[in-house]
Order: sequence, then structure tokens, then C-alpha cells
Amino acid sequence: MSRAFNFSAGPAALPEPVLRQVQAELLEWQGERASVMEVSHRGQAFVDCAAAAERDLRELMAIPDDYHVLFLQGGATTLSALLALNLAGPQQTADFVLTGHWGEKALENTRPSMKVHVAASGKDGNYTSIPDRAGWQLTPGAAFVHYTPNETIHGVEFHDIPDVGGVPLVADISSNFLSRPLDVSRFGVLYGGAQKNLGPSGLAIAIVRKDLLGKHGRDLPPIFELQNQAKNDSMFNTPPTFAWYVLGLVLRWLKAEGGAAAIGARNARKAANLYAAIDGSGGYYRNAVAPAARSQMNVPFFLPDAALDKPFLKEAEAAGLLGLKGHRAVGGMRASIYNAMPEVGVQALVDFMADFARRNG
Ligand code: PMP
Repeated sequence: MSRAFNFSAGPAALPEPVLRQVQAELLEWQGERASVMEVSHRGQAFVDCAAAAERDLRELMAIPDDYHVLFLQGGATTLSALLALNLAGPQQTADFVLTGHWGEKALENTRPSMKVHVAASGKDGNYTSIPDRAGWQLTPGAAFVHYTPNETIHGVEFHDIPDVGGVPLVADISSNFLSRPLDVSRFGVLYGGAQKNLGPSGLAIAIVRKDLLGKHGRDLPPIFELQNQAKNDSMFNTPPTFAWYVLGLVLRWLKAEGGAAAIGARNARKAANLYAAIDGSGGYYRNAVAPAARSQMNVPFFLPDAALDKPFLKEAEAAGLLGLKGHRAVGGMRASIYNAMPEVGVQALVDFMADFARRNG
């Protein structure tokens, strides 16, 4: 058996050089005579490792100094709930622009803590497009506008940053974190789980404009108060040290690959290759998303008959192509082609798809 190309939506493929480095230094790390998992998060070796990861993330994303970078637990889901508690009081309103499942979830996690308003939703079209900006009904004076730049399940991605005036934009970038250059200064908060583009599960990252914290006027348990994490370098309690360390290695790998611009160009080529294979299949394969909203990271597609799904998945697996089953809410297939998926992996999928269509046409 050998390693396959893994198209899983998350946890997802990690760069092989990173896994090899983890393997090489698993027993003894940094001269500590112990594994990174076994040493104190307050020891100098881990403090340095954590700081290096933050520095590299700041460099790769060009994060301005007036933003905190927080390394947290609980995934993007917990963060969506914590952000509602930390960014505003109960009488304030959060606007939501819904383009899929994860935006809906964030709204439900916000609802108990403040007023919520759906400013726009693509639900009527089964989340296959982005509602036209001109039709958004934003609340004047809202505390923030939440949206999901890339909806992982539906494969719907914004290709520009919406203009919402002076209201802070809060964006869940779980599935397109560092997938291309992004102007951080346009956002109030960027947040997401690490387990798709940046590392293993267990770590979530929030990039928060400093002036937005500490104004909610609520009596929060100290552990829910994001300012406490900000003041303590994300070590108000024990952080997920192993995940943080692996994330640091992934960031170093990203830098060595040329950074956000280079990885963005590669991701664009990968997505173009796959969509061309779908669109050029004479209708055999079908992607339902409006071309302008197609995701560069998650590519859902359907076969001509759902009865072909099982054989497709079985043969794909035998050919070394894993994790292609679509989310149950959408059906069909989904290829997640995050940063760690090499171009040869996408090419292998494209070749397999052509061969399968020939044999089952
Ligand atoms: N938001 C998005 C865009 C996601 O893709 C996911 C996970 N698939 C989540 C939120 C939920 O993340 P977590 O499991 O880390 O809470």
C-alpha cells in the first residue's frame, strides 16, 4: 500500500514533506529529549515554536499589526458562537449573508446571543449562486456582517470581498484559509478551523481587529472572553500544542512553495483543470454552481445517474483517489483540492474521470 491522493473535505490532505518531518522528529523534538506533545506549552521550546507559527502566518497573509492572531480550540463552530458573545451586546444585530450550510450554522450559533438578520440568502436556488450584492438588505448600524467566503459543501466561493460600508465583515474562511492572497484589512474578523488548508484538526484560528474586542458589555466566563486569549498569547489555558506545531510546519512549507501568490496561482490552475474536465465531458459530469461562484477549493459534481456513484467511488479508491463522496446534503461527488493537493493529484483525478466516462458512457 502507498499513500493515495486524498480529496477529503476535512480533515484533509497534509503536505507530505510536513508529515515526514513530523515523523522524523516525533520521538525527540528540538533537543528536548521528548516529543513536542510531551513538553510544557510554557517551556521556551514550545513558546518559540508557537511564536514562529504566528510570525509566519502574519507574513504569509500580510496581517496588519492592529489585528490579533488567536490560536484556539473548539473548531470554527465554537468560534462562531464565541464571536457573537465577544463582538457585541445582546441588543445589537448581526447580519448574515447565507450562501450555504456553514453560514446557516453560524447564524444558529449567534441567535441565542444577539439579534440576527438574514440580509441575503441563496437558499431558494439550493445554494448554487451568490445573491446579487445590490439586493442585500443590510441593517444600518449592525454590529457585523457574517458570511462564508467559501461554502465547503456546496462549492460556492466569493471571488471578491463584498463592500458593506463601515460595518465589520466577519468571515468564516475554514475552507479557503490562505488559498490565495487576501486583503486582511477589509475584514473585522477572519476565522476558521485549521483542518483543511493549514494543519490537523483541533486548532481554530481567529484574526481579529483589535478595536473590536472588549466592547460587548457582557459578563462572560473568563475562558470565553477572547481578550483573555489575546492578552496571553493564546495560552490562557493549555493550547492544542501538537496541532499548533504541525500548523507551523505547514506554514513553513507554504513559504517555501512561494507564499500566498504562488499557492493561489497553483490552486487556480488545479481548479481550472478540474472544471474543464467536467464542462468538457459532453454533459457526462455536471457541476451545478453558477460559473462566477464556483469554488477553487471544493468542486462538487454529479454523474449522469446516481446508480453510478458507488462504482465510481470504488474504482476511484482502487486507483488511489480517496474521499470523493459528496456531502449527503448535496449528493454526488466532491473533490476538495486544498493547498496540499498537488497538481499531479488533480490530473490523476481528471484522467480517471475521462476513463470512467468512456467505460460507462
Ligand atoms: N465552516 C466551514 C466553512 C466549514 O467547512 C466547516 C467544516 N467543514 C465548519 C465551519 C465547521 O468547522 P469545525 O468542525 O471546525 O467546527
